[in-house]
Amino acid sequence: MHIVHKILRLFEETHILTRHDFGDGKSGYEEASSLHHHHLIDTHTGHIIEFHDERIESLQRESAQGLGYYLVGHRLELHGIPLEELRKKRDTYKA
Ligand SMILES: [Zn+2]
Repeated sequence: MHIVHKILRLFEETHILTRHDFGDGKSGYEEASSLHHHHLIDTHTGHIIEFHDERIESLQRESAQGLGYYLVGHRLELHGIPLEELRKKRDTYKA
């Protein structure tokens, strides 16, 4: 294993960095923060927006509970096109 990968893995294991998979085989690291959050990936620009929504969090806990489980973890990733881009496209087809 390459030394850089070894170091990144070590940081991941010690919770200094968090690894995220962004699909298409792409992944990235970011500093592990105490605040739990998710990512919205802008499919137009590739920008990654961090967000936290307690409604989603509690809904997931309830879903797990309903299935007879206590939730200890989850993965969630949103992919979106900016509304502004959709408006531009709509206006182009109109003209
Ligand atoms: Zn979450």
